[in-house]
Amino acid sequence: MTPIVIVGAGPTGLICAIELQKRGHQVRVIDQKEGPSTHSKALALHSHTLEIFDQMDIVDHFLHVGKRVGHLTFHNQNQRFNFQLAPIDTPYPFVLIVPQSETEKILIRELELLGGKVEWQTKLVDLKRIEKDGNQSEITYSWLIGADGAHSRVRSSLKLPFKGCKLLETFLLADITTKEPHGFDAPNIFLNKQGISVIFPLPDSCKYRVIFPMREAIELENLEQRDLEELALDRGITKGLYIERVDWISKFQIQRRQSHALKVGNIFLAGDAAHIHSPMGGQGMNTSIQDGYNLCWKLDLVISERAQAKLLDTYASERLPIAKKVLRATTLATRLLLVGSWVSKFTFFIMKHLVGHKRIAKKITLGLSEIELEYPTSSLVVAGTKSAGPKVGKRAPDVQLASGRLFDYFKEGGFLVLLFKKSAEDLDHLCEKYGQSVRIVVLEENAFAKKYAAESNALYVIRPDGYIGFKSNQVKLAQLDGYFLNFLLPL
Ligand SMILES: Cc1cc2nc3c(=O)[nH]c(=O)nc-3n(C[C@H](O)[C@H](O)[C@H](O)COP(=O)(O)OP(=O)(O)OC[C@H]3O[C@@H](n4cnc5c(N)ncnc54)[C@H](O)[C@@H]3O)c2cc1C
Repeated sequence: MTPIVIVGAGPTGLICAIELQKRGHQVRVIDQKEGPSTHSKALALHSHTLEIFDQMDIVDHFLHVGKRVGHLTFHNQNQRFNFQLAPIDTPYPFVLIVPQSETEKILIRELELLGGKVEWQTKLVDLKRIEKDGNQSEITYSWLIGADGAHSRVRSSLKLPFKGCKLLETFLLADITTKEPHGFDAPNIFLNKQGISVIFPLPDSCKYRVIFPMREAIELENLEQRDLEELALDRGITKGLYIERVDWISKFQIQRRQSHALKVGNIFLAGDAAHIHSPMGGQGMNTSIQDGYNLCWKLDLVISERAQAKLLDTYASERLPIAKKVLRATTLATRLLLVGSWVSKFTFFIMKHLVGHKRIAKKITLGLSEIELEYPTSSLVVAGTKSAGPKVGKRAPDVQLASGRLFDYFKEGGFLVLLFKKSAEDLDHLCEKYGQSVRIVVLEENAFAKKYAAESNALYVIRPDGYIGFKSNQVKLAQLDGYFLNFLLPL
């Protein structure tokens, strides 16, 4: 069997590898790095990513190591206020702080448990060759996924432009260990004339991430702990940091770029290879993981000849608008906060009052959580009838059932037909026609009826990625079959 090759063992490549490996495909994951990353990079796992990990049955590993955060603290000189995340409808109504190196460690372990592995020190040279130990050899694949980050060789080999621009000045990022706990139990954002600076608590005690604008032309190697403490004070971080050790230090520049193609023949781009943007709001890794999750159930169905090839076109038609939206929102937030820094007292005052409004607080919280990202115009979502309840194209919300939760049903894969108070008998032939691709579950519980505004005979089709694909307030077999026939192949 010719393997599916995944270039890059960052979060995107690893999600793709797990999703394909667990569905029985032969997967080859290559990465040019020496071995697993030790750098903390992205820290925030948002609600929707945790819901995906829930479906993948690995969320407990993250909850075990992560630090739950429910608010952000804003400072301006000696004034401060807390922005409390609003209550939202998810089993994970918080931001989970987990260093990216830890996230990757968990994903690699999961891949290995499934019998997969990463081939380290193996670099993709171009679309036909890899290099290992200084030797080049040919590489063959049935499909190739370019999850090889912002400087993607897959993207450049395809000659796809990465249009965009550098947004702003250079930032310094340091992971530090302080002499004693600092009391920063949530992300702290300092607005002052020097710009915006942020301190994140890392899960281990006395460990923090510090980010601030860096205008001085100082080489990082020449930066002493003392210098870092002074720079932090100068940038408005009002408490002295008393650094014991600098664990990692780096500089970065904010860029906003996007590829306008995600599929060329049998080659895909996903994650940072396809889009990069400001880290404001910590959306980068989350969006990347969701790319991989959207792609791989489709690829599985097409490779195993259970779906038509056109299903793969919906990867780009669904994910490109999401990337565009995330780029726009993070750019706007970054510009507001950075432009605002010149009038920091005013920005601080406005923000304090805005987030005090329940509706605005909820909108910001929902934006961060990514649970509202939707595919409203996708050809894979169809409203059979107009009815109340969650809309097609949105991610399906969880329901606490008498035994277990609705999300438990999502773990088994395939399309899920949820029938409310209706015998499944009429639909038996769907299972015969599409085999494991379609499963039917009959629900009788009022908790489901309430959340999904379901009356007797109502049905919802949940896609393998937890999105609502089809809904109707009455079961019409021909309509439902028409929905599936549009992209699935009968056995
Ligand atoms: C300093 C820093 C701080 C960040 N902070 C945040 C944050 O706070 N919040 C947030 O959401 N995001 C943050 N990000 C961004 C986040 O890390 C990325 O969005 C995320 O890593 C994207 O995952 P990915 O798997 O798509 O790409 P990557 O994580 O970049 O993984 C790509 C992989 O491909 C490999 N590779 C590249 N080229 C080749 C090749 N030719 N052959 C073989 N392998 C190759 C690389 O070695 C790498 O392992 C940060 C990034 C950096 C650099």
